[in-house]
Amino acid sequence: MLPFMNHFPFNRRLLSNYHSHSTFCDGRGAPEEFLRFALSNGFRAYGFSSHSPLPFETFWNMSKSDMPEYLAETERLKGKYGHRLEVYAGLEIDYLDGAYNPSIPYFQELPLDYRIGSVHFLPLSDVLTESNMVCIDGGFTGFDRAVEEYFGGNVRRLVERYYSSVQRMVEAGGFDVVGHIDKVCMNGQLCHGFSFDAGWYRKAFADSLALVAEKGLMVEINTKNMLPKRQTYPRIQFYPLLREMNIPVLVSSDCHIPHLVNDGRAEALALLREAGFRSVRELVGGAWQDVGIAAS
Ligand SMILES: [Zn+2]
Ligand SMILES: [Zn+2]
Repeated sequence: MLPFMNHFPFNRRLLSNYHSHSTFCDGRGAPEEFLRFALSNGFRAYGFSSHSPLPFETFWNMSKSDMPEYLAETERLKGKYGHRLEVYAGLEIDYLDGAYNPSIPYFQELPLDYRIGSVHFLPLSDVLTESNMVCIDGGFTGFDRAVEEYFGGNVRRLVERYYSSVQRMVEAGGFDVVGHIDKVCMNGQLCHGFSFDAGWYRKAFADSLALVAEKGLMVEINTKNMLPKRQTYPRIQFYPLLREMNIPVLVSSDCHIPHLVNDGRAEALALLREAGFRSVRELVGGAWQDVGIAAS
């Protein structure tokens, strides 16, 4: 009998995770440790998605020179554990600008099973260096300082700029899943002048979703902050809007530590069901499929 299975009130087909970091980027554990935790929780499928290499080095992104080893290690794990769960090689690829994003040949030519497209950085010019980037996914102090220094103290300008990057990423394509589509709100909502109900916010968000729907992409329900903050990306309150727009979703934990692999999954699935979703997307035998989320 698998431990924890009794606590997951859904079909085992839904025990999966496609957004996962490791020591190849800023995760705290080797890929195999994440896989072992997934196995001990009865998982059906597991995908790795290291932070992609960038034109500059950061402490949280992979180095380009480590890519062969990352792919080889994932292959090794497929060989070792493939008879017990499906193992996938993915990548969380940064959209920086038109010159560096998931659609460029470097990322398209990598032998990956799937690609997540995410915006973490807003470049201040077309010079792609770390000092020229506003990071939206770090601590609040740096975010708040960037609002002051580069956006005239107006959080709306930064948030609109973020969604314009998301939209340009979706237009450029080359990936399957939009990662944490409203991550800018993690810090943005703490700024004076921000409101989820403001017309400008709803428009920026809904326009992004409309483009995602038009391009037939999936949106990830990112549960990294579900247990600590009761928050997912996208925001729980917007699930009905995603449902209304018929946007396919998948649930992933964006874990950086092995024991967080399964965090927030059951809660997110229950909330999606409450919002009217009847299925989520899952990789089954290498292809994305809709899998029902009725309680088992
Ligand atoms: Zn991310
Ligand atoms: Zn991530």
